[in-house]
Amino acid sequence: MTSIAANLQAVRARIAAACVAAGRRVESVQLLAVSKTWPAASVREAVAAGQCAFGENYVQEGVDKVAELANKGSGPRLEWHFIGPLQSNKTRPVAENFSWVHSVDRLKIAERLAAQRPPGLAPLQVCIQVNVSAEASKSGCSPEQLAVLAPAVAALPGLKLRGLMAIPEASDDMARQREQFAMLRRLRDSLALDLDTLSMGMSHDLEAAIMEGSTLLRIGTAIFGERVYA
Ligand SMILES: *Cc1c(COP(=O)(O)O)cnc(C)c1O
Repeated sequence: MTSIAANLQAVRARIAAACVAAGRRVESVQLLAVSKTWPAASVREAVAAGQCAFGENYVQEGVDKVAELANKGSGPRLEWHFIGPLQSNKTRPVAENFSWVHSVDRLKIAERLAAQRPPGLAPLQVCIQVNVSAEASKSGCSPEQLAVLAPAVAALPGLKLRGLMAIPEASDDMARQREQFAMLRRLRDSLALDLDTLSMGMSHDLEAAIMEGSTLLRIGTAIFGERVYA
């Protein structure tokens, strides 16, 4: 077994155990493998081990990988999620190449994605990123902005607003992790919209995220190893 296959197996076991502890069905949590900085060969290893959904952070790297791994007849269909910060001049390749965007944090970005989504494709599935820790360095809208942004995004054609995403302040304290995830869940519940997705939980805090209702985990390091940035 390759190390990526073994890591995936270990991550799936962690998810299963956390679901048991939380009294949740394991099918209620989707695993997104975050492949940023890793080559297409690593993605292929994960695909061979049964993983089909992948997350990318950087537009050009992501678009290149989507093209390199495009299905040419055989093999499973891959689902690509854009999860990184998005500038308005880079929305077009994202609208054209990805199935999901988790990092919408202002209306201008959502409007451009909506206008640029090719009509032949399914609506782009989107999450609004919320800054739950109020750290100045973090992207995401504020909880106050969310109340106005969410209905506006939900009304756009070409997009389907699915839920909320957060990257909490890093902490080894599970209580602190859970507090931030619970805040995202409460924000979702406060909106008068039918939102089925909470994109929360990474390699070091997936257990806390599952406890607080995560439906979509974004896991990089625990699957592919430590990233090295060029
Ligand atoms: C890199 C990244 C991840 C994966 O984080 P790990 O700690 O490697 O699991 C998840 N979400 C976002 C938005 C990221 O940028």
